[in-house]
Amino acid sequence: MNKVLIGKINAGSVFISWFGLLCFFIWLTYALITDDSTYDYTVLLTIGLTVVFGLVHFVTAFWVRCPHCNKCLTIQGFKEPHPDSSGDWGAVVFKWFSGRVVCIHCGKTVDTNGL
Ligand SMILES: [Zn+2]
Repeated sequence: MNKVLIGKINAGSVFISWFGLLCFFIWLTYALITDDSTYDYTVLLTIGLTVVFGLVHFVTAFWVRCPHCNKCLTIQGFKEPHPDSSGDWGAVVFKWFSGRVVCIHCGKTVDTNGL
C-alpha cells in the first residue's frame, strides 16, 4: 500500500471514530433525558465504530510519518505541538484532506497527497 492511501485511511478512520463517539453521546444524552436506557444494536454499532476505527487509526498512524523529521504525523505523545503548527494532532487530522498539514513535531509543511 502506498503512503498517501495509508494517510487517508489514517485520517478517515479518526473521522469515523469521532462520528461513532458523537452518536454514542447523543444516545447517552437522550437516555439520560428520557430516563430510557433501553438500547439496541445501533448503540453497540456506535461503540463498535469508535473502537474499531480507533484501532485502525492507531495501527496506521505508525506508517504516517513526516518526510522532514520522520516522526508520526498524527501521534503527538505528551509533548506540546511545535509553535509553527496549527494545533494538535486533531488539527492535523482535520486538515488532512485539504492536502496540506503542518507537522506537529518540526513545524514544516507536509503535502498529504505526496507523502
Ligand atoms: Zn516533521
